[in-house]
Amino acid sequence: MNSFPKVIKNKKITRNWILQNKFRGKTIAFVPTMGYLHKGHLALVEKANKLADLTAVSIYVNPTQFGPNEDFQEYPRSLDQDLEKLATLNVDLVFAPSDKEMYPEGFVTTVHVDKLTAPLCGARRPGHFDGVTTIVSKLFNIINPDFAVFGEKDFQQLTVVKRMVKDLDFVVEIESCPTVRESDGLALSSRNQYLTSKQRKEAPVISQALNRVKELVAQNQITTPSEAEAKTKNIIKQNSTCAKIDYIQCLSADNLHEVNNFDNSTVLAAAVFFGKTRLIDNIKLT
Ligand code: AMP
Repeated sequence: MNSFPKVIKNKKITRNWILQNKFRGKTIAFVPTMGYLHKGHLALVEKANKLADLTAVSIYVNPTQFGPNEDFQEYPRSLDQDLEKLATLNVDLVFAPSDKEMYPEGFVTTVHVDKLTAPLCGARRPGHFDGVTTIVSKLFNIINPDFAVFGEKDFQQLTVVKRMVKDLDFVVEIESCPTVRESDGLALSSRNQYLTSKQRKEAPVISQALNRVKELVAQNQITTPSEAEAKTKNIIKQNSTCAKIDYIQCLSADNLHEVNNFDNSTVLAAAVFFGKTRLIDNIKLT
């Protein structure tokens, strides 16, 4: 059994802790999260453990990445349970700041990544990625990690963060982890707990549809991205009474451009509402 991680809420104290450890020659891997941790988050922490001497995790529900009609207020928070989960792994530092610590009075700066934030979740959640890139930049400046680990479930976020790191010369290596799933295929998400039992029963239809379409592409029964999108929508509609499709789209994982032909970077991405709960998932098609 490992011990509970050190929890720091103040950014100056965090920075000093990091500096002291860097001075001792330690490398740091960082996992940013919004808490309410599940096995998907823990997989990122396990990867971080392998990458560097020390692992830092942030737990912060970032208000600026939520739209005015989104679930910022209801978003589940459970710091004590999160710390218990992290105590089963090797975590050296948890940075858990307040809103005032991250956005003090007078805060007016936004980090914006263009183009890559236009499609998919960027189109449906205006301002979302500005909130993400702003908070991730701040966290990178506070933690100054050698590595940062993100989940492939949020594949647009991963692409956007990688681009931001390149464009703004952050000295951090971005690593990723495959999506961790329930046994029925549903991608783990802190938002799954909003689902009613009927919605929870139907929600695996997203990953089932993505997997089925991947199979059909492999068998040459689907030969174009538009067929893949149509078939995915069809499977979801036919196998769920409460799913409402937000988007189903094939794009290139490299630049998030729509594609007319499959190549080895084609990703099929989905966002589907079950009631008010919006779930996302994706699969590499080739
Ligand atoms: P969140 O707390 O939802 O902001 O997620 C924090 C990090 O965990 C992000 O890099 C997500 O992509 C990643 N993540 C969330 N769910 C999963 C999952 N099911 N499998 C792997 N990574 C995940």
